Amino acid sequence: MTHKIIRVTGGRAAWKKSKSVPLTAEQIEREIRALAKEVNLHRVVFHFKNGNGGGCAYPVIPNIANLDGLRRGQWSKLVVVGGGWGWKTGWIHTLAHEVKHIEQFKRGERGSERPAQAFADWWVKKRAGTPGGPALNTPLPEQV
Ligand SMILES: [Zn+2]
Repeated sequence: MTHKIIRVTGGRAAWKKSKSVPLTAEQIEREIRALAKEVNLHRVVFHFKNGNGGGCAYPVIPNIANLDGLRRGQWSKLVVVGGGWGWKTGWIHTLAHEVKHIEQFKRGERGSERPAQAFADWWVKKRAGTPGGPALNTPLPEQV
């Protein structure tokens, strides 16, 4: 699928997902929009895909990243959210973790893991109980 551009606090973000990812478009957009109230996500591209069991945040968009449907020059950072957990909690935790790295990059800092894990733990708990939010009856990933 091509990317979808959405309005978020502070600007625009874009996302696409693999068919096998067990999140709906509504869930993805709700989480990105909610996270954008905590972290500036303007010009950030999100790729949701299965297979690598984790995530990665890129301070610049790699040349090899497939940005079909987007103008490369309009976008500045990339978040890849992998799954393998099969549960919403794992996806949302990974997403929040990588979003914290984007914040670190935008501040000119290197990605550091402890704040990213703490933010993701906090985020999943905060979002639990919201409509469409994560279930907390599944274990959180130890390390992403
Ligand atoms: Zn990390």
